[in-house]
Amino acid sequence: MSIARFWRETPRRYNLGGSKCTMCGTVYFPPRAVCPTCAHHRESIGKMVPFQLSGDGEVFSFTIVQEAAEGFEMQVPYVLALVRTVEGPTLTGQIVDLAPEEVRIGLKVRATFRKLREEGKAGVIHYGYKFAPAEELPVQRHGGPRAAAGAPATPESDRASA
Ligand SMILES: [Zn+2]
Repeated sequence: MSIARFWRETPRRYNLGGSKCTMCGTVYFPPRAVCPTCAHHRESIGKMVPFQLSGDGEVFSFTIVQEAAEGFEMQVPYVLALVRTVEGPTLTGQIVDLAPEEVRIGLKVRATFRKLREEGKAGVIHYGYKFAPAEELPVQRHGGPRAAAGAPATPESDRASA
């Protein structure tokens, strides 16, 4: 699949576009057409509006992945975390810019857009959100680049050139 097609078909991978119920204020990601939280679902029909998640949240649960899925061989071990966003929805994503042993429950993180995987030698590259630390940690044993506090969650060095 081409990168352009990938973006067309899965825009929310890139922009964290969810939806919000204007009746009760609940935010959903992925977006929903009807609010299951409202007592009478019909009340929310036509009341759901697009909502952009900030990408800010904290680690709720995580696991260190030692056995890579196909296409992720270069990345093990890596941390796959459940991140509870400040808006409410829980997202699953990889933690980057931090050694796996430094990840902990409650770590403040921010979504950042990175290369997700590469398909074969032709190098079809998929991008999506991952999470980088959003707080200063007491000890820095890693020398990798990290997202600056307050920086917009946009691709940087690994930005798609297409
Ligand atoms: Zn609602």
